[in-house]
Amino acid sequence: MPSLNMRPFFNHSISWLSSTVLGGLLILMLWAGIGAKYFDNRASDVSGAHRDNENFALLFEENILRSIGEMDKALLYLRRMIQNTKGPIDFHAVVSTTDVFSELIVQVAIIDERGIMRASNAGPQPAPATDLSDREHFLIHLQTAEDKLFISKPLVGRASGKWSVQLTRRFFKSDGAFGGVVVASFNPDHFTKFYGRIDLGLGAAFTLVGVDGIVRATGGNAETKHTLGQDLRGTELMARVGADLSGSYIEAKSAAGGSRLSAVRRVAGHPLAVSVSVPEQSISEQSQGNLHLMMLAGVALSSMIAAVTWQARKSELAVKRNSRQLRLTLAHMSQGIMMVTNDMSIPIMNAKCFELLDLPQTFIHSPPRFDELIGFLDRRGEFSKTALPDNLGLLEFYGPKDAAGQFELYERVRPDGTVLEVRSARLDDGGFVRTFSDITRRRQAQMEANRLASEDVLTGLANRRVLSETLDDLTFTHRNSVNTSLSKFAILCLDLDRFKAVNDTHGHAVGDRLLQAVAQRMKQILRASDLVARLGGDEFAVLLASAEQQPTAEVVASRIVEALSRPYEIDGHQILIGASIGIAVGPTDGRSTNELLIAADLALYAAKAGGRGTYRFFNRQMNEEIKGRRQIETDLREAITNGELELHYQPIIALRQNTISGFEALARWIHPVHGPIPPDKFIPVAEDSGLILPLGEWALKEACRQAVQWPDDVSVAVNLSPLQFASPGLAIMVERILGETGLAPRRLELEITEGLLMRNTEATIATLHRLKEIGLRIAMDDFGTGYSSLSYLQSFPFDRIKVDRSFVSQLGLNSTSSTVVRAVVDIAASRGMQTTAEGVETEEQRAALEALGCDEAQGYLLGRPEPIHKVATLIATWGQRSRKAA
Ligand code: C2E
Ligand code: CA
Ligand code: CA
Repeated sequence: MPSLNMRPFFNHSISWLSSTVLGGLLILMLWAGIGAKYFDNRASDVSGAHRDNENFALLFEENILRSIGEMDKALLYLRRMIQNTKGPIDFHAVVSTTDVFSELIVQVAIIDERGIMRASNAGPQPAPATDLSDREHFLIHLQTAEDKLFISKPLVGRASGKWSVQLTRRFFKSDGAFGGVVVASFNPDHFTKFYGRIDLGLGAAFTLVGVDGIVRATGGNAETKHTLGQDLRGTELMARVGADLSGSYIEAKSAAGGSRLSAVRRVAGHPLAVSVSVPEQSISEQSQGNLHLMMLAGVALSSMIAAVTWQARKSELAVKRNSRQLRLTLAHMSQGIMMVTNDMSIPIMNAKCFELLDLPQTFIHSPPRFDELIGFLDRRGEFSKTALPDNLGLLEFYGPKDAAGQFELYERVRPDGTVLEVRSARLDDGGFVRTFSDITRRRQAQMEANRLASEDVLTGLANRRVLSETLDDLTFTHRNSVNTSLSKFAILCLDLDRFKAVNDTHGHAVGDRLLQAVAQRMKQILRASDLVARLGGDEFAVLLASAEQQPTAEVVASRIVEALSRPYEIDGHQILIGASIGIAVGPTDGRSTNELLIAADLALYAAKAGGRGTYRFFNRQMNEEIKGRRQIETDLREAITNGELELHYQPIIALRQNTISGFEALARWIHPVHGPIPPDKFIPVAEDSGLILPLGEWALKEACRQAVQWPDDVSVAVNLSPLQFASPGLAIMVERILGETGLAPRRLELEITEGLLMRNTEATIATLHRLKEIGLRIAMDDFGTGYSSLSYLQSFPFDRIKVDRSFVSQLGLNSTSSTVVRAVVDIAASRGMQTTAEGVETEEQRAALEALGCDEAQGYLLGRPEPIHKVATLIATWGQRSRKAA
């Protein structure tokens, strides 16, 4: 498996040529160009300078040749004049010939064969005559036979005191013997002046030098140049002159100073050479000037390039950073991601993608094409666990078909059970990006959450949500279907009877286990297709999806009631409970979930009201009843405040003595519109609404107030609702009423029902004890109607047991009831309790009860409940009436 930090493929196209390198190269090239241009300029300057120098040297030579030629012509003219003269020669006349003079020649003179200057145009020769026999320009002609022009070294004139160079030729006597020398002197300044006027640039220097190395003339504007008469022997210049090397060269350390570019040229036909030189530095001045300009431009350009480069570098770094960030992101994403181009190649696939698809290492080195990848996965059976719909199958192979920017999403289960969420998005260019997320845990959590959300934790049954959703679906189908043959369905709402008492008596742990046992029994009875749900507390519901198939809702309901009523054995406790069921049939009883649940609830209510442990189908009247109940509640509230209630009194007869031992006070309500409303109707309403508290207090007070008028041995029995025990201070209230009315506590009997004892809390028992301590009596009413009446007898020392009418009415009809009554009487007697039989309607019943040892009797036979004004008469007449009956 590839590690996270590796990157299977990530083909990035960052160029190796970064902008910095590019910018640097540009600047380098710019400067190389400038350099090249400079060196090119310099080279052409140098070659130009060479050419110039050579040209100037050539011109200089020309000029020298012409000048020398001119002066030589003068010398030759003078010699001819001398030699052509027959007889004695007038040297003065010869030198005075103006023809020979030019601006070049400053002086002409004639020296005789002994070396004595005989005449000069400079003026008459001073006496003694100047002896020039030691001078080179004389000696050279005397000693050599060659007829040749001689050019002297510069000399300071003995007569003039000025620098001059002498050009000399010999002349012959008429016999051909050496006659003397004609001299023409020229001023070297001539060249200096003349060439000074030619602009060769700063520092140019001209030199006329003899092959003997002595400088004959100089010129130019160089600050340092050769001086007249300077001896240049041993210099490079003279070496070149000696080697007869004409041309230009660089003179590293010229006698004229510095490094100079010089051209040298032999003067044709004369032992002379000319040299023109310029300082090397001056040659490059032009190109250096250009160089400066180019450098300025170069610096400007460079900084521009640098600026651009810097910008580019910045954005390049940003791009690099982005690309790095992208790579890091891809590498550390919890999702697998791949990019597929329109030609099916996969340029990007991150490590997570490798991991999620479990791809082999070989793919890293040779990334597969997309179709190859899909083929590989298919062969490995990756798509076997997911039944991909046709279009998704195509998607897996060919990517999303949708337009760019749209997502395709589906889930795929890998063979190992991993759930992958595959999300694909089409790109503009026809490729697509696909991500893979491992959603296995999310799916598992979802399934668990779904299970928890739809399940009742305690019992494992479905919960209210599932029930309503299923009902929603059913009612929706029925509402929107034209198919009239759709079968009906039934919803059963179920409530456990006496469950609260179990909780109170045995604790919640037992209560919970009881609920689990109930759920278990319901599941056993019902078919798998039936939905059993716990709605909360001790409320359950059953949905029979097709109520018309056997067994019908009725059969199911009775089975449930029967099954749940069988005793439970929980933690060693024997527990008996019952179940009441309300049934609504869809869609007749309701077209929506809500309507149906309300209908079933109403039916349940009716079932409970009808005596519990049974089931009821919903009917329309129940709606009316519930409305009626609401009306009753409103009216009852007014009735209590307005004193519309009254008490009726039913006599209780001591069977053996045949005397009225007391009266039971029973509430009566004459509704101003509906007439008399029986307590069975309004007492439950009072209990549900809490009105039972003021009603109960009123009844107690009213009963005591009346009873106090009766004979001392006639007591009064008042019914107490279990709800009155829930309110604190019941005993205090009773004590207060007794005090207020003045009734002796021993004349008051309070009747409580099994229902109170099912809430067998310590507080209830404590209250009962407190009441007993006051001195009144406590009777257990309706004994035998519940399931655990006998067991409740243990919990409190009752004074009386009132055997329910249901046993009394059966007396003489079956033997069971008489057995029960006898047992109750025996138990009561053994505990010092009295027994009263309720609902005695016949003389046979009365006789049987007396025979069974029952203490007292109450019933229509003995007297109906009567208004208070009849009580006194009843008491007074009882003796006569009973005697009459006897
Ligand atoms: P209960 O305490 O069992 O009262 C006896 C009921 O039986 C009375 O019904 C009475 O009229 C009826 N009865 C008496 N003898 C016979 C008979 O021979 N045959 C038949 N069929 N019925 C007979 P009533 O007055 O309708 O009261 C019904 C119930 O209402 C009472 O049952 C009692 O539980 C409750 N109740 C009445 N008044 C009060 C009251 O002031 N406070 C409380 N908490 N409950 C009351
Ligand atoms: Ca009663
Ligand atoms: Ca009763």
